[in-house]
Amino acid sequence: MRAFFISFLVLVTTSSSFAALVPISSLQARATRYDSFLDCLEHAGLFPIWEGQPAYASDIAPFNLRFSWKPAVILYPKDTTDVAAAVKCGATYGVKVNARSGGHSYAAFALGGENGHLTISLDNLRHLSVNGSTATIGAGNRLGDVALYLWNNGKRAMAHGTCPYVGIGGHAGQGGFGIPSRAWGLLADQVTSIQIVTADGAIRTASKTQNADLFWAATGAGAYFGIITQFTTVTHKAVDSVAFSYTFGNYGAEDASRGLLAWQRFANDPKRPLDANLGLQLHVNPGGPPSGISFSVSGSYYSADVAKLNATMAPLLAELGKPTATTLQPQGWITSVLYYAGAPDVSGLNTTLAPDAHDHFYATSTFVSEREPLGKPSTDALMKYFYGPGVKSEVGWFIIFDLYGGQKSAIRSLGADYNAFDARDALYSIQYYGSFPCTVSDADGIKFIQGMKAALEQNQPKTVFKEYVNYIDSTYSAAVAHKKYYPTHTERLTAIKNKYDPERVFHNPQDF
Ligand SMILES: Cc1cc2nc3c(=O)[nH]c(=O)nc-3n(C[C@H](O)[C@H](O)[C@H](O)COP(=O)(O)OP(=O)(O)OC[C@H]3O[C@@H](n4cnc5c(N)ncnc54)[C@H](O)[C@@H]3O)c2cc1C
Repeated sequence: MRAFFISFLVLVTTSSSFAALVPISSLQARATRYDSFLDCLEHAGLFPIWEGQPAYASDIAPFNLRFSWKPAVILYPKDTTDVAAAVKCGATYGVKVNARSGGHSYAAFALGGENGHLTISLDNLRHLSVNGSTATIGAGNRLGDVALYLWNNGKRAMAHGTCPYVGIGGHAGQGGFGIPSRAWGLLADQVTSIQIVTADGAIRTASKTQNADLFWAATGAGAYFGIITQFTTVTHKAVDSVAFSYTFGNYGAEDASRGLLAWQRFANDPKRPLDANLGLQLHVNPGGPPSGISFSVSGSYYSADVAKLNATMAPLLAELGKPTATTLQPQGWITSVLYYAGAPDVSGLNTTLAPDAHDHFYATSTFVSEREPLGKPSTDALMKYFYGPGVKSEVGWFIIFDLYGGQKSAIRSLGADYNAFDARDALYSIQYYGSFPCTVSDADGIKFIQGMKAALEQNQPKTVFKEYVNYIDSTYSAAVAHKKYYPTHTERLTAIKNKYDPERVFHNPQDF
């Protein structure tokens, strides 16, 4: 079996800690070293899987099929003690280590973001419990399973993203925005303590009062400081809501630009601060005739009071005109979770019942701050792009605006340095996403999506835009990533990295 592993070392030629092309004379020595690494894992009672073994190809398939990173080894520890043993082997033999929770990183960073790493997949760490308003969540859980468990065990709830298959490890570790986040904060903000294996193999508890620096860093920049094996979180009473959607299928580019500016003013009108129970989005994507673009204002109001929602939305609708389609749907909590998941019933939240989907895509993001909202040149250029190249493109694209801020928002109220998440001043995020059919090359598809963002950002040249790390841009170097994701926190994060992981055991191309 080891022969496969040695041949992997010979064949792989990309740069990485574990996979540089080496002269044959030193190959045997290296192979011996890697053999010792495998021995280390096996002596710890772990079952390393490497290239050539039957499970390897399927086990390393990323969510984003644009990538094909080859870890040296992938393994599935049964508990935190196993995780610690695996990290120690990686550290001892100089193999870089990454955790995989749900595997949904846009850059496939759970597989290293380059070849030759040790991927520790947390699929077996799926324990869940609730005690009063506190939940304990194994880091291998997916969001759908967490939501379903909380609902079935005391009608509890949390704010988190919409896709059932996204893992809690990456999502909570680096933010985690959901439609109720203006009321309850990001998923990372709802975490009260973590169990984390650090680079020395120690199993630590971190919270606001214990290893507070590690806790601060791992709730916002979670991929770089250790492997979180368990989250303790607050939960909330599950609430009813009204889902709404107003679609304007007949807008031209100028209407859409005016509409976006109206949406932005509404989002942060000092005279009419929006209720924190309002989750608000704006979707723009290819649509049917007459314009070929669909412009849609949507979200959920976390109260069953339709009249109050209508009164809240009235000023915006007065500016947007008459929608071509309207939905107003009162719904219980779990129905709302299903609505956003696009799942017909609760079985759609149980991720053990059906395999995950995959996509071949590129995505990136912009945070628009409360201080520097978009001006008309930006919104005009963006809409011109959608109604021009956007209508013609073969890329399957969409763009989502998510409201984070406004005076009453819980995300905003925690203050700039609450945890490593570095965009408390954001009024809203914009995600630009494109799936590439086989007729579109990766280079062309990426250029098309980057064109949207450039249209918006380059028409506001004085603004330094931040971005959302959970929509990680695979094209960024570490230096660019730090400026975009952690502009005010990089120095502090680097110091914490130096303290807990001086040898950069946990590493991807955007590491500190
Ligand atoms: C279909 C889809 C829908 C999405 N919807 C939303 C949304 O509504 N809101 C939102 O905010 N985001 C959303 N995202 C983005 C999502 O939050 C990120 O991709 C997230 O990082 C995925 O986490 P994961 O555990 O599934 O991914 P992984 O690929 O497993 O992990 C992502 C990163 O975190 C690291 N990591 C994972 N687990 C741990 C751990 N236990 N300890 C330390 N590091 C760890 C990995 O090494 C990797 O670097 C969505 C993504 C997809 C693909």
